[in-house]
Amino acid sequence: MEQHISAEEIAAQAATIINQYNHESLTPKERRTIPLQEMPAQDPQVRRNNMEEVALGYTENQVKLEAMRCLQCKNAPCIKGCPVAIDIPAFINAAALGNFKESINIIKESSSLPAICGRVCPQESQCMLTCTVGKAEKDVMKSVQIGRIERYVADWERENNQINIPEVAADTGKKVAIVGSGPSGLTAAFDLRKAGHDVTIYEAFHKNGGVTVYGIPEFRLPKTIVEVEIETLVKMGVKIITNFMVGKTRKLKDLIEKDGFDAIYIAAGAGLPKFMGIEGENLVGVFSANEYLTRSNLMKAYDFEKARTPIYKSKKVAVFGGGNVAMDAARTAKRIGAEEVHVIYRRTEKEMPARVEEVHHAKEEGIIFDFLTSPVKILGDEKGRVTSIECLKFELGEPDDSGRRRPVPIKGSEFIIEIDACIPSLGNNANPVLKNTTAELEVNKWGNIVVDEKGKTSMDRIYAGGDIVLGAATVILAMGEGRNAAASINEILK
Ligand code: FAD
Ligand code: SF4
Ligand code: SF4
Repeated sequence: MEQHISAEEIAAQAATIINQYNHESLTPKERRTIPLQEMPAQDPQVRRNNMEEVALGYTENQVKLEAMRCLQCKNAPCIKGCPVAIDIPAFINAAALGNFKESINIIKESSSLPAICGRVCPQESQCMLTCTVGKAEKDVMKSVQIGRIERYVADWERENNQINIPEVAADTGKKVAIVGSGPSGLTAAFDLRKAGHDVTIYEAFHKNGGVTVYGIPEFRLPKTIVEVEIETLVKMGVKIITNFMVGKTRKLKDLIEKDGFDAIYIAAGAGLPKFMGIEGENLVGVFSANEYLTRSNLMKAYDFEKARTPIYKSKKVAVFGGGNVAMDAARTAKRIGAEEVHVIYRRTEKEMPARVEEVHHAKEEGIIFDFLTSPVKILGDEKGRVTSIECLKFELGEPDDSGRRRPVPIKGSEFIIEIDACIPSLGNNANPVLKNTTAELEVNKWGNIVVDEKGKTSMDRIYAGGDIVLGAATVILAMGEGRNAAASINEILK
């Protein structure tokens, strides 16, 4: 288990050194001597038994110190790494000076959900990847902690009641429907409503927010944060109708032909779980990560006393996969009461697609990682309940198309792990409902909706974006697609 430094210790260290630095007179060399500010976090021994947020956020001293590490590079390579091109040096400069309102206003020119992105963006493969400081240190994790600063100023705005409701242009008399209330749909709704259109979001679930609410657990992204973002949209005049599945409750075409919508943006996400296709996946005690996380997040199934859909109690759990979804499933299983949780991944830690911070937190919480291992069969008892998995050991061979070294099975290396639940967490495919109910909607071989560079589908006045187009991607990419499609819709509705 990795060592944990307490939040109090981290805060005290920052308080001791803050007066040594004056942002306005620091030379680049002096900036390089400021220690990287670690994120304070709940004690792993405590947090593995609760659903509260793990990362606690910077203190004011910490955010200023971290912001002072930024070299304010003229060419700002970090901006190129951010899919929505936030003016990173400008917002960091304002944060270093303690001008948090100015800082958040700069971010909000490009991103409407910074409290979410600051928490969940895969920063080490985006803005931090291109940061000059990380490049000089030859370690991306030593880059300026851009997302942590972004999170601080977004939280500061919310906690200090500083959220302004953006001005909405005069009524255009045009109606736009949005399918899905995930980050992509919410971003498009924001831009379209700002332009003065009458915007209605249709959401299949009883709660809004898409994966940020039903997939990503509370301990990584508190749901109140997403709710506040949605409240802003409602205050701007966006209508939201839940428990409404476009395609089933109402046909897609009917929204235009019968309900008078002038355009539609489809942001239905990738909600169809992938399975391994191995023997035993239909046994009792096998959950897709989607089901497991949705039950836990949306139905509060971990509350065994009150929940109407309590989750299967298990002591030994195996999670298959190495991405963020797998980390979320494993850490949720631990919090639900599992004593032993294995993450089974067929490559090594280096190839894992999960965020480094999530892997670190999972290890701190006692999750066991079985690398170079893959399940070949799930075994059950006479009642059809899972009892164990048969696994095979792998070694790394030549790189495949993705550039990652291909895992090669080692003959005769089969072994058994006893478990009572397992969670295949291999990601998701496109949601098939719209494709199955709308013959004119062109999709590719994976079921993703095909769009042109403006986000337009094969159907007139119907646009699409986010995971339903990209396949399972990221929050910020889904937001970028929402913004792009909203601009195209604004153009045709002029
Ligand atoms: P979604 O968020 O999937 O939202 C789509 C919405 O549309 C859903 O609410 C759905 O109910 C609704 N819907 C679907 N069909 C219909 C219909 N026919 N009618 C009405 N409503 C419909 N990304 C990161 O950047 N960082 C992370 O740490 C991260 N962790 C993740 C963890 C998990 C467990 C998962 C599953 C994903 C994670 N992602 C992460 C990916 C990220 O959440 C998605 O890329 C992003 O949410 C996609 O946004 P979206 O708006 O396209 O779709
Ligand atoms: Fe970095 Fe994401 Fe913020 Fe862009 S939105 S600056 S990629 S954390
Ligand atoms: Fe600051 Fe890094 Fe961006 Fe340079 S590249 S401006 S150091 S965040």
